[in-house]
Amino acid sequence: MTKIKQPEMCPRCESLKPETLCHSPVKNAWIIYHCPVCFFTWRNTEPDFITDPAQYNPHFKFKPESIDTFDIMPAIPELKR
Ligand SMILES: [Zn+2]
Repeated sequence: MTKIKQPEMCPRCESLKPETLCHSPVKNAWIIYHCPVCFFTWRNTEPDFITDPAQYNPHFKFKPESIDTFDIMPAIPELKR
């Protein structure tokens, strides 16, 4: 069995110390990690362009301090009456 290395940072926001969310029901099949800052989740068995912060698509990356400026999606329409 190969030892699985705990990721050091979130692939999307690069916050340190992502957490282990859960393990596969079949022992050692996969692990899901979770970023407590941006709520990104990923499985250790996903390709490098998802799991590796250096290869994650830069168009989908952001800094944690930007989260407060994000718009609400979907937009909340005005009341009609
Ligand atoms: Zn994150």
